[in-house]
Amino acid sequence: MTGPVLTYLGKSWLELGAARTAERDGPWRAARDEQGVLWLALDVAGSGVNTISREVLEGLDRQLDTIAQDPPKGVVIRSAKTGGFAAGANISMFRDVDDAEDVAEMLTRGHAVLDRFEALTCPTVCVVHGAALGGGFEIALACDWIIAVDGASFGFPEVNLGLHPGLGGTFRLPDRTDTIEAMTLMLTGKTAHTRKAKTLGIADAVVEERHVAAAVGAAIAGDLVRDGRSLTDRAMALSAARSLAARKMRSTVADRAPQEHYPAPYALIDLWEAHGGDRKAMQKAEIASFAQLVTSETSRNLVRAFFLQQALKKDGKGEDGIAHVHVVGAGTMGGEIAAWCALKGKTVTVSDPDIAALGRTIRQAGEICKDQHLSGIETRDALDRLMPDPQQLGVPRADLVIEAGPEDAAIKARIYAELEPLMKPTATLATNSSSLSVAALAKGLKRPSRFAGLHFFNPVSKMQLVEVVIHDATFGTVTDQLAAFCGAIGRLPARVRDYPGYLVNRALTPYLLEAIQLIEEGHDKQVIDSTAEAFGMPMGPVELADQVGLDICLHVADSLKSGLDKPMVDIPGWLREKVENGETGKKSGRGFYEWTDGKAQKSAASEQGAAGDIADRLILPMLDACVECLRRGIARDSDQVDGAMIFATGFAPFRGGPMHYARSRGIDAIVARLEDLAAAHGARFRPDPGWQDLG
Ligand code: NAD
Repeated sequence: MTGPVLTYLGKSWLELGAARTAERDGPWRAARDEQGVLWLALDVAGSGVNTISREVLEGLDRQLDTIAQDPPKGVVIRSAKTGGFAAGANISMFRDVDDAEDVAEMLTRGHAVLDRFEALTCPTVCVVHGAALGGGFEIALACDWIIAVDGASFGFPEVNLGLHPGLGGTFRLPDRTDTIEAMTLMLTGKTAHTRKAKTLGIADAVVEERHVAAAVGAAIAGDLVRDGRSLTDRAMALSAARSLAARKMRSTVADRAPQEHYPAPYALIDLWEAHGGDRKAMQKAEIASFAQLVTSETSRNLVRAFFLQQALKKDGKGEDGIAHVHVVGAGTMGGEIAAWCALKGKTVTVSDPDIAALGRTIRQAGEICKDQHLSGIETRDALDRLMPDPQQLGVPRADLVIEAGPEDAAIKARIYAELEPLMKPTATLATNSSSLSVAALAKGLKRPSRFAGLHFFNPVSKMQLVEVVIHDATFGTVTDQLAAFCGAIGRLPARVRDYPGYLVNRALTPYLLEAIQLIEEGHDKQVIDSTAEAFGMPMGPVELADQVGLDICLHVADSLKSGLDKPMVDIPGWLREKVENGETGKKSGRGFYEWTDGKAQKSAASEQGAAGDIADRLILPMLDACVECLRRGIARDSDQVDGAMIFATGFAPFRGGPMHYARSRGIDAIVARLEDLAAAHGARFRPDPGWQDLG
């Protein structure tokens, strides 16, 4: 195909060789070209993305039968989906399997297919565009050559599901690239983007789509070359060297993921230490280890978290009809919201009375583009879409106006009074407030039904959840539009009703306040934090309070205290003084902790781990608040609560979410424990009546 035609067709055209017109045979389209090269295009029916399932492997096995009878000159594998190569294994495959032996048997069959493919004597080439993840990457690794189309990426995200690669990745990746780099990729679940993949030798060539046919021709003709093994690799063939490296890996992993909660990376290191360099032994051990992991509680809960994420994503499907977003207030939140929306393709204008804040927003947008691995052209386009607009000229053109001004109802009311008359009558106004009542903020508006909360979490580019907070007058179409908007900018919407703290801050605040109460009682802040971390929270409550800002925490606490029926901790006077003295936490360099270079300064381990009631005093009120929100219909159901808490606060994902944790520990047991705590520490622990409905 010629250049201008390809430019016109853009990303929708893929070089599928002879497979282009072939009929589907299961998930594959197969055909030979005039040179005798067999093109196998993976095209899983009924889905926009390929996932690797038993059918994919069985289909490949059938192709191998045909190949055995009539060997081709070469085999090319690629995806027929424009979106990418393959998103990994079809996880639902393992969802209902309880028996590790059944899993091992299923995997052994899959391995046999890839071994058979790998043993072909003709050259085999995998062409990858978009992402090749998990099982998809493992199919690519079984090919002699991997050609990456610019923009391709490769990774093993299994570790995020409490697993490690299970279809040969643990030995085929270290065979292809530097062993330590291979282990790092598998242990972190990070993706190697095109350039990195080329540097690592994962991709043998990087080409533009229009040069795929030529690159395939070169690979089959034997014109591609691969670098030899590195010195490190030769050293890692020695078991003493591997043991040393394994020890280092274990200690790096331990900083992020304790073994009792996240066994998978440790299992992978054990595998490699014991069998690295011995393919057959690795293969046997990989299958056994994967089968154990996939049937473990941790992996089941992490897989559950994955499906909760999918369910939230589904809530964000549909057309949002929003082309232009205007953001008011370019502070910590507004600046990043504006940048993120521009990155995700929206035209964005952003205003703030403080001009310097607008400058910071543009700078920050550049940094986020870099973090998100945007190319030079994509970055330029994103920055072009982001316009500082001190005079608010964008407001009349905006389909959505997001207000992220100071957390003060009077200031917000003034902002709305100025903005609303300028807005299109069909445009939607949303507030990013974290604690103010959306219904109360709507009171002064001319069009309250086109107003709702759009509560992003900090940092916007990392936290996936956004609460779409509705009040009684919000139009259903506006709720749908805002949820679809979240989907369009790659965030997960949780539709919740207006309530003090909405869902997430309602649940999180007692956790933060109890930590303050524990400090008041003389407990060591580091012990409090390490206890919460030992439970599986990503960060202890004291450090989290500092990170959020003690002024903001106080504000949220005050507003919840006045809005809720339940008693809450009395906020000690010394905390207010601390805030008045400017000790607001990370942003001022001092809060409960001293902060240097963005890190809380902690002393070497004092007493560590759970002490007495601390864990339950921190965690159970959070669960109780979730139950209260369910009883009051603030959230839709337990799964939505679990998804929201995992993706907004990082609530121990390996426990499957707060409600799932409550159920696995036993509703009666939790209620009894709350009653004990209420007797010992006060009425704030009294169990919510909603627990009765869960039993
Ligand atoms: P911030 O103080 O960093 O930013 C507020 C911005 O508003 C400042 O740049 C300020 O110059 C600007 N501003 C002041 N008066 C204004 C006016 N009249 N019109 C337009 N802009 C004005 O605050 P933030 O942390 O970004 O919080 C903004 C909103 O987001 C608040 O409602 C807050 O509750 C909410 N929120 C904050 C967080 C967080 O972690 N910081 C998280 C979620 C939601």
